[in-house]
Amino acid sequence: MSHPLEALYRDIILDHYRSPRGVEPLASADVCSRGSNPSCGDELQVQLKIDDGKISQASISARGCAISVASSSMLTEVIEGMTLDEAVEFGENIRNMMHGKEIPEDFDLGDIDALKGVRKFPVRVKCAMLAWVATLEAIRKYRDGEATDSKIEITTE
Ligand code: ZN
Repeated sequence: MSHPLEALYRDIILDHYRSPRGVEPLASADVCSRGSNPSCGDELQVQLKIDDGKISQASISARGCAISVASSSMLTEVIEGMTLDEAVEFGENIRNMMHGKEIPEDFDLGDIDALKGVRKFPVRVKCAMLAWVATLEAIRKYRDGEATDSKIEITTE
C-alpha cells in the first residue's frame, strides 16, 4: 500500500466507512430489499423512495466490512435523482467495472473509482457489489409491483 494512488483510494474508502452517507432510514420508502454476503458476513438493507420514475431518496443501513459499508455509502450519494433506467444502467456499469469488463469511456465513477483496487481480490468484489445487487433487486421488485414488505434475502454470486 505504498503507492500514492492506493493510499488515496484507501483514504476515500475509509472516509465512507467511518462516516457513511445515506444511512438515515426513510420514513416512507416505496420499496426495500435486503442483501447478505455470507462469505464475508456483510448484511444490508436498501430503501428507495421513488417519485415520477426517479429515485428521490435512497438509504442503506449496512453492517459489515469497510468495503461493503463504503460501497453502500457511495451508492446512496450517486443514485439519488437518477431515473430507474439510469440507476439500472449505472449499476450494470459498476458490475462490469468490478468484473474487469469494459465500461463507457465517459462513465463518471466519482468516489466509486476508489473501489477499482478491489478487483484484484475476487472475494472482496462481492462486498463491493452487495449494495448494487440489492438496489437492482429493489428496482426490479418495484417494477414488478411486489409488496414492499416482502423483503427477501439475496446472496451475491
Ligand atoms: Zn465484506
